[in-house]
This record gives sequence, C-alpha cells and structure tokens, in this order.
Amino acid sequence: MSLGGPTMGIGGAAGMGIGGAAGMGIGGAAGMGIGGAAGMVRSEGGLAGMVRSGDGRPGGRGHVVVVGAGLAGLSAGLACADAGARVTLLEGRPRLGGATWSFERNGRRFDNGQHVFLRCCTAYRGFLDRIGTSNQVHLQDQLAVPVVAPGGKTSWIRRTSRLPAPFHLAASLASYSHLGLADRVRLGPAALALGRLDLADPALDQVSFADWLTSHGQRPPAVDGLWGLIVLPTANLAASEVSLAMAAKVFQTGLLSQADAADIGWTAVPLAQLHGEAAAAALERAGGTVRLRAKVERIAATAAFSSHPLVVVVDGQPLHADAVVLAVPHTEAASLLPAGALPHSERLDGLGVSPIVNVGVVYDRRVTDLTLAAGLGSPAQWVFDRTEAAHWGTETRGSSGEQVLGVSLSAADEWLGQRPEQLSDLIVGALADLFPAARSARVLDTVVTRERAATFRAVPGTAALRPGTKTTVPGLALAGAWTDTGWPATMEGAVRSGQAAAREVLHHLGGRVMAGPAPAAAPAAPGPTASPSHNAPSHNTPSRNIREVLT
Ligand SMILES: Cc1cc2nc3c(=O)[nH]c(=O)nc-3n(C[C@H](O)[C@H](O)[C@H](O)COP(=O)(O)OP(=O)(O)OC[C@H]3O[C@@H](n4cnc5c(N)ncnc54)[C@H](O)[C@@H]3O)c2cc1C
Repeated sequence: MSLGGPTMGIGGAAGMGIGGAAGMGIGGAAGMGIGGAAGMVRSEGGLAGMVRSGDGRPGGRGHVVVVGAGLAGLSAGLACADAGARVTLLEGRPRLGGATWSFERNGRRFDNGQHVFLRCCTAYRGFLDRIGTSNQVHLQDQLAVPVVAPGGKTSWIRRTSRLPAPFHLAASLASYSHLGLADRVRLGPAALALGRLDLADPALDQVSFADWLTSHGQRPPAVDGLWGLIVLPTANLAASEVSLAMAAKVFQTGLLSQADAADIGWTAVPLAQLHGEAAAAALERAGGTVRLRAKVERIAATAAFSSHPLVVVVDGQPLHADAVVLAVPHTEAASLLPAGALPHSERLDGLGVSPIVNVGVVYDRRVTDLTLAAGLGSPAQWVFDRTEAAHWGTETRGSSGEQVLGVSLSAADEWLGQRPEQLSDLIVGALADLFPAARSARVLDTVVTRERAATFRAVPGTAALRPGTKTTVPGLALAGAWTDTGWPATMEGAVRSGQAAAREVLHHLGGRVMAGPAPAAAPAAPGPTASPSHNAPSHNTPSRNIREVLT
C-alpha cells in the first residue's frame, strides 16, 4: 500500500482503494463503514458501542478528528472508528507512525531507532493484533539478554527458574559475572525494596533512581552494570537522572510483578510496515479517513450548542468536529489548543526532551549470532541484529550473507552534536571491541539517525507535569506518550493514551443525540482483540498543565 500523495483519502465503500483525489478525505459518504458490530465485540477496553444515536443504536455519526498519527493518534482513531464514530485523522507529515518510522538507503530498510516492547505491553500488543501485524514481531519465549563487555566477555540476564516473580531471575543474577559477589548479594534486598514501593506515593518523584539505589546499598558497579542497563533504554535516561517513580514503574511492571512480563519483543519488518501502513489500512476498513501533509494550525471551540462545537483549522480551512483528540508531541500541543483548554499549559516546557541516536552498521558477513545484546562499558548500549528487517521486501533478502546491526544510544545528549562520521567511527570501534569477528569484517555502509526529542525527560518532578487526557473543553481530549499514563514515553504508553482519549471523547459523544441515521456496519476488520487498557490516564486537574517548546 502506498502512502504517497499529498492528501490521502481512506475510506468509502468496502473495497475502495487508497489514494483518492486531492482533497478527498473529509467527511465521507453515507454508508461509509462506521464501527460494525464485529469491531465492538472485539473491543475489550470499554470503548465498544459508546457512540450511540439518539435511539440507542450503536453506530452514531459523531465526527471525531484526531490530530497526529503516531501510535497514540492511530490507536485513538481506530478505537473511535470501532465504536461507531466517523473518524478523520490528520497528520502533518507525509507518513504515518509518528516517532516510529523507516527509510530506505542503498536498497536496505532502516528504522529511525530500534523499538522494543515487553510482553507486559498489553495495549501495544493488542494494537498490533487489531491492525493485523502481531505476526510480524518476534517475542522471546523467555527473557534472555546477553550482556557483552569489551573483549567479548558475556554474562546473561535471563529467566531460567520456574520460580514466580520476583525470584525468577535469581539464579541468573547469582551467576552474573559482570558483578562481584558482594554486589550480587546486595541485589536481592534492593530489588525487593523496589518492588514494595507505592507507585502512587508522590515522594517517589522527588528523588533520582541512582540516589535511591545508593541508599539501598547499591555501589557504582551494580548501578552501571545492572540497574542502569535496564532503566536507560526503557526510560531514556541514566539512573543518575531518572526519577525513582519512573524507574520503580519500569522495574515493578517489567521485572518484579510477573515472571514473563519482561520477555522482549521487536519488529521483524520495518516499522513503517508494522505500524503506519497497517494502521492506515485498518482505519480504512473501519471507515476512517486519513489525510497526510495536513498540518493543523489550531483548534477552536465554538458555542456549546453548535451542531459541531469544535473546529480544527488545517491548511487555512475549518474542519468541523463533534470531538477532537489532540495526539501531537508535548512540544507542539499547547500552541494548538484553544486558550484555557489546558490550564498552566506552560508547564509542558518542564517535561523537556531526551534524545536517542541510532547507528546502523552493515557488515559484509555475520559478526555475531546474537539477535540482541546489551553492551557494558561500551557506547554501543544495545545492539540488535536488523538483517531481516533491512532486507525486508528486497531481492537480496537472506541471500547476501551480510549482517546489519542496529545500535541504540539512549539519553544521547553527549552524542547529539557529533557528526555522523564521528558517530559511525565510534560505534564501529565499539562493535569491534564487543564482537571480535567484527574486526576482520568489512563495513559496507553506516547510517546514523538522531532524534533530538525522542521522549520527554523523566527527571524527578515530571510526574506532576504530565496532564491527563481531559481538557476543560468538552469533547477535546489529549493523547500522547507524554500524557499521564504512568508509563515511560513508550509505544505502550502512546497506545494507552490513545485509548484513554478515545474513551473520553466517546463518552462525550455518547451523551448526545447524534445527527443522521445510523449507517450500515462495515465489514469486520481482521485481527483479534483490542487489549484492555489498564492504568488509564487520570483526568486532568485544571491546575496541572503545560506549554511546550517547539522543536
Ligand atoms: C529513536 C527512538 C527510539 C525509541 N525506542 C523505543 C522503544 O524501544 N520502545 C518503546 O516502547 N518506545 C520507544 N520510543 C518511544 C516511542 O516511539 C514513542 O513514545 C511513541 O511512538 C510516541 O507516540 P505518540 O503517538 O505519543 O507521539 P508521536 O509518535 O510523536 O506522534 C505525534 C504525531 O503528531 C504529528 N503532528 C505534530 N504536530 C502536528 C500538527 N500540527 N498537525 C498534524 N500532525 C501533527 C507528528 O508528525 C507525529 O506523527 C522510541 C522513540 C524514538 C524516537
């Protein structure tokens, strides 16, 4: 499916193609598939059937405009469409997927950054199910992470025992040879104490994770050699900077509550295929409309008794809506909102940004048999074998003998300013230190991506700056990985926020008598269940909000 073209219309009658004439895509003809009983049955997240016409039938015609087609906007749009709303998704860029995107270079496919998820990411995995791509990811049967130090010394973090959490890693950590015996012995009490912390306690967000670890007997080798290895990629900040609240969420949810929660998953195909293109097709089947290169200028609220009380201004033209989900990055949200919609919106500045740098290295031969590895004492923090995805859809697939490694550098402030050649040299050298076979291999290509605002900066004090989904304007909801999901800025957080925003606007629409007859149900979209959304963002308190820095 091509996503090209300045204005992409998706929708219309079943079987209608994607592409459409320029300008197509707002509204939609009567009969455009709205919801459908099948979709409602599948939705377990409390969203099903919330848009109702005046006579109580499902499939009312509320028009929901979603601004931003990252995972938050895509999941919000799908949830609204599945529940019976007429959805228009507006994306400023020429592609879908937001912070998860792919590009081609010299015949190979690269992602903007390695994206992994864990088995406990139930909302994200449900999203993949919904859009029909859950068979395009790998998910470990059992957590197994080789931690490789320069010189190649490797020790594994894995769940091998049959013990329940939090004891499922005990055997592996007892033999974790990157730490001395004294540090290994101290891990257990700290892990148990971390597991007991009350995530609802605001005091957790007043202290850094490293400070807490130190006060619980963890010395620098353990902070760097174990705790930091996990929190750095998940929260995109070093242990010395990240809030204890965020770190405790990561460890409790991923490692300390359920034995299989931290089994690692990653995409087998380029991210653009996994998310954007598949989600667009799913939205099409659900009767939605997608417009690319549609940069929203502002959102305005009209009189409450108006038939369409919200107006989204895009390309200078008003687009009328019954409800709006604003799913753009926190650095852009405040400038689009109506005045007063998010009290104290200037506080969004406080969320800051944290960068991620990714370096892809193409070798002429295989240099490691590991599919993923954590680098210890190396700038190559996490390494992934991306050969399969790089060759996805190409003739060279599987036959060239080359290996493509993707190297992820989280909290990459110190590398952001370096030139691509410097970063490539740094990482090629680091990989040669970690994997001896790389020393004699020829580097065919390197590619560097730098995401300056990859995530917000989860330092102490940020929990109180994350707004919930609700605004002061009825029918206008916020979504994005930066909202108050309780999760770090992740794909899981983005999907949860989208679902929460959908619930909010559907609840708003459900109380109204919608105009027009209930349309015919659309054919059921493929894919299994939408997963339940736990930890839904709380409603905003009017005093807790923000504004942001345009990047
Ligand atoms: C390099 C990198 C690596 C990462 N690694 C991981 C990982 O391993 N695991 C993980 O779970 N998460 C990871 N993340 C984080 C994850 O990708 C994000 O948290 C998530 O995708 C954010 O989704 P979102 O929908 O909230 O926002 P975004 O994806 O930022 O989507 C917002 C969308 O809004 C659009 N937009 C902005 N302004 C306008 C406007 N005025 N009009 C219309 N559209 C607009 C943007 O173009 C964008 O498409 C990573 C992120 C990066 C950058």
